[in-house]
Amino acid sequence: MTTTPYADLSADDLASELTRLREEYDALRAKGLDLNLTRGKPAPEQLDLSNGLLDLPSTHVDPDGTDVRNYGGLQGLPALREIFADLLGVDADRVVCGGNSSLTMMYQTLTWLILKGGPDSPRPWSAEPTVKFITPVPGYDRHYTMLEELGIEMLPVPMHEDGPDVAAVRELVADDPAVKGMWLVPTYANPTGSVCSTEVAAELMAMPTAAPDFRILWDNAYAVHHLTAEETKSADALGLAAASGHPHRPVMFASTSKITFAGAGVAALAASPENVAWWLERLSFAAIGPDKVNQLRHLEFFGDAEGVRAHMRQHRDLIAPKFAAVEDALTARLAGRGVATWSRPTGGYFVNLDVVDGTASRVVAFAGDAGIALTPAGSAFPHGDDPHDRNIRLAPTFPSLADVETAMAGVALCVALAAVEQLTK
Ligand code: PLP
Repeated sequence: MTTTPYADLSADDLASELTRLREEYDALRAKGLDLNLTRGKPAPEQLDLSNGLLDLPSTHVDPDGTDVRNYGGLQGLPALREIFADLLGVDADRVVCGGNSSLTMMYQTLTWLILKGGPDSPRPWSAEPTVKFITPVPGYDRHYTMLEELGIEMLPVPMHEDGPDVAAVRELVADDPAVKGMWLVPTYANPTGSVCSTEVAAELMAMPTAAPDFRILWDNAYAVHHLTAEETKSADALGLAAASGHPHRPVMFASTSKITFAGAGVAALAASPENVAWWLERLSFAAIGPDKVNQLRHLEFFGDAEGVRAHMRQHRDLIAPKFAAVEDALTARLAGRGVATWSRPTGGYFVNLDVVDGTASRVVAFAGDAGIALTPAGSAFPHGDDPHDRNIRLAPTFPSLADVETAMAGVALCVALAAVEQLTK
């Protein structure tokens, strides 16, 4: 097999390669596939791992003697908070366990900052002429659409393997008090798989900001979602922030959406004592207590943090082969061709694929025509706008392994076809 970069082929060789790829693509299309690599959600077999929850809780009283059927306990069951605290590396009194969605807790946090301001805000964010947020790119589309919905301007910065580009962040926050915060998925980021190093986290927590109430929404959705035996620990955001004199800067979020049931898990946040008190006070006007029955069944199901870790190893056994299939398909067709780079994530839910500039939309369209649904090109960028039209997010967890293999062979072909087309233009 030749691995000559496509750009080094002669015009004649490129033309015949284009003909060959087109024939192969026509054959792919003729298969009438119906496959989908867009859904970053657990496969049914992963959900089955948690079916024990359906028969729990076995009692209506938690270990602290609380009757979980009744109102109250706004901060969440203490024993479940202990589990999240262990997993997130924080004290349990800093943790709030909520409903089923961490995204909702992020939305509440932003909404309350806008309406009321935080404990360290001179005034509500709504009283500022403009509010801006730093958004590492590529990133999670729902982070962007949430800001859009709330009228917050977005300032993209590049995401690297060890976290966001700190120099770019520093520059944006230094003089402009309208820059009120940033998103960060610190561990196995969506979609790059990046893991924010302790050094980068320390700089982000310590850097001077013009806004006195700058927030880092530390969305640790994939904290325990390891794909290898090396179970990378997240940086200690709260500890680093407190040590550098900015204890209120980070607000941490997590959930069991991709641990137990995506639609019926438990979400949590962790922050400084002042932030937690502030959060619970705002919440007290909106709720009398969380779904403690669901919290208790999660507590019984796991027992402790080690129970969660052991459970995640079962997830890993199910999904690691799917990530390996993505790697194999991309390598088989594209290694050495100089037309694509991709992530080799050690955790999380996504593979980040960068293709020849200006061809991502074309690749997605080719794949779609061949019955392989891919996330729309650009969706990992604010306003769906990838300035280079090069980024594609692959989500291999939901389809079966056989479907991932078939779909990814097709995707790799589409990448090659779009690249060679571009080169022969
Ligand atoms: N945060 C990130 C980075 C995600 O990728 C996702 C889901 O894909 C979520 C949050 C959603 O979390 P939840 O289900 O707890 O609302």
